[in-house]
Amino acid sequence: MTHTIHIIGGGLAGSEAAWQVAQAGHRAVIHEMRPVRGTEAHRSDGLAELVCSNSFRSDDPNGNAVGLLHQEMRSLGSLIMQAADAHQVPAGGALAVDRDGFSAAVTAALAQHPNVTVVREEVAGLPPEEWGPCIIATGPLTAPALAEGIRALTGAESLAFFDAIAPIVHRESIDMDVAWFQSRYDKPGPGGTGADYLNCPMDREQYDAFVAALVAGDKIGFKEWEGTPYFDGCLPIEVMAERGPETLRHGPMKPVGLTNPRAPDRKPCAIVQLRQDNALGTLYNMVGFQTKLTYSEQVRIFRTIPGLEKAEFARLGGLHRNTYLDSPRLLDATLRLKARPTLRFAGQITGCEGYVESAAVGLMAGRFAVADAAAATLQPLPQTTALGALIGHITGGHMSAEEPAGPRSFQPMNVNFGLFPPLDRMPRGEAGRRLRGPEKAALKKKALTDRARSDLAAWIEGRQPLPAAAE
Ligand SMILES: Cc1cc2nc3c(=O)[nH]c(=O)nc-3n(C[C@H](O)[C@H](O)[C@H](O)COP(=O)(O)OP(=O)(O)OC[C@H]3O[C@@H](n4cnc5c(N)ncnc54)[C@H](O)[C@@H]3O)c2cc1C
Repeated sequence: MTHTIHIIGGGLAGSEAAWQVAQAGHRAVIHEMRPVRGTEAHRSDGLAELVCSNSFRSDDPNGNAVGLLHQEMRSLGSLIMQAADAHQVPAGGALAVDRDGFSAAVTAALAQHPNVTVVREEVAGLPPEEWGPCIIATGPLTAPALAEGIRALTGAESLAFFDAIAPIVHRESIDMDVAWFQSRYDKPGPGGTGADYLNCPMDREQYDAFVAALVAGDKIGFKEWEGTPYFDGCLPIEVMAERGPETLRHGPMKPVGLTNPRAPDRKPCAIVQLRQDNALGTLYNMVGFQTKLTYSEQVRIFRTIPGLEKAEFARLGGLHRNTYLDSPRLLDATLRLKARPTLRFAGQITGCEGYVESAAVGLMAGRFAVADAAAATLQPLPQTTALGALIGHITGGHMSAEEPAGPRSFQPMNVNFGLFPPLDRMPRGEAGRRLRGPEKAALKKKALTDRARSDLAAWIEGRQPLPAAAE
C-alpha cells in the first residue's frame, strides 16, 4: 500500500527525506515556502540551496567523521551525495560543489520523480492532523508562524532561536597531570558523583594574560538580520572579559569550592571547568565559554589554559541565529515528537549542524517514516556508525546536567569521532609496538571507520553487529 508523507521544507534535509520516501515507493509531498516567502539567507527558489560555503568538508572516509558520513550516505542511496558528486569542483581533500548545479540537480531529480510533488507554499503553523505523517525540516531559519506553533506544542524552553555554543574538547587530549576531577563543594547533584567536572587552574599571571588575550582576540560580528542576541547568563566569554579584569573570576571561572589536589595550600586565581558532554564521556564542554572569537583565536587562546595546551576540539564555540529543538528531551529514537508522534523532525532544527549532517538526518527521517508507514520496525542504527552517532547525539546521547548558563544543555554539533563509542582495544604497531602521536591518531581513526563500515554493512543486511571481542 502506498502512503503519503508530507515534508515541510525543501532544504538539504527535506529534499533527502523526500527522495528516500519516494525511492521506497511512497508519495512525498514537499511544502517549500520559497519563492512565496524567503529567508534572510536563501537567495534562490532552488531546493537544497547552500546558503554560505560550497563545501561538504572532508571526503576522507578513513580519517574524518564527515568523510565517513559521506560514504555511509552514498551507500544508502543519498540524493544529496549523488548530486554533490556529480557537481564537484576541485577542492583538494574536500568535497566542494558548484552550488547552482548542485541545487538544480536536486530540484530536477525531485521534480521528475513520479512519487514526488513540490508545493510552493508556507506552512504557517503546525500541519493539520489530516495530513497524517509529516517530516518538519524547516532548518535554522524556520518561518515564524510554524516556529510559534512548535513552541506552543513543546513549551517555551524547548525551541531555541539562537545557539550559544561553548567549545567541546576531546577528553583524551586534556592533560590529567594538571586537571583534576571535582564538583564545586563536592556536591553530587542529580545523577552526579561529586567529582563530575574537570578543573584547570590558573595563577594570577596566567589569568591576567588570558583576560587580555580574550579582549584583544579577533571576533566575528553578527549579520545585521541576526540582531545581537546577548542576554545575561549567556554572554560571550570575551564580552564578560571586557566588563572588567575581575569579572570572569567572579563568574564562570570562579575558583571557589575547589581544591587542587596537587597544591592544596595554594588557591588558584581562577579555574576553568569542563563538564562531560556526552554519555560516552569522550567529550567535555568548557562551561560558560560561549564565544564569538574566530576559530583560530579560540584554538590559540584556549590552549594557553593549563591542562588544555594540547586540547583537540570536537567543536569550537559560537553564537548564531539558529532555530532548534531540545531534541534529546522531545524526540524519540526515530526522531518523532513524543507529544505528537505523527510529526517527525529532520535537519538542523533537530540540533545537528552543517549541510551534510542535515541531509544525513533527513535521510534517516525519510527511512524511519517509510518504516512507520509499512508498520515495520527499523533496527536502531549502531552508534558506532557516523549516522548512528549523529542520531544518538540528537536523540539522547548528551548529558543533561544542570546548566549554570541556562536551563538547556543540548547544543548543536557537527559529526565528529567524539560521538563514537571508544574502541575496545587501541590499535598497535608491528609486533605489538605501542603507538604515539600522529601515527596513533591515524590508526585509531582507521580502526573507528573500519568498525563503522562493518557495522553499517551488518545493519543494512538486517543483522545486528557482533559484539566486539574484549581485549
Ligand atoms: C547564514 C547561515 C550560514 C550557514 N553556513 C553554513 C556553511 O557554510 N556550511 C554548512 O555546512 N552549514 C551552514 N549553515 C547551516 C545550514 O543552514 C544547514 O547546515 C543546512 O542548510 C540546514 O539544512 P536544513 O535542511 O535543515 O535547512 P535548510 O537547508 O535551511 O532548509 C529549510 C527549508 O525550509 C524552508 N522553510 C522554512 N520554514 C518554512 C515553512 N514554514 N513552510 C515551508 N517551508 C519553510 C526554507 O525556505 C528552506 O528551504 C549555515 C546556516 C546559516 C543560517
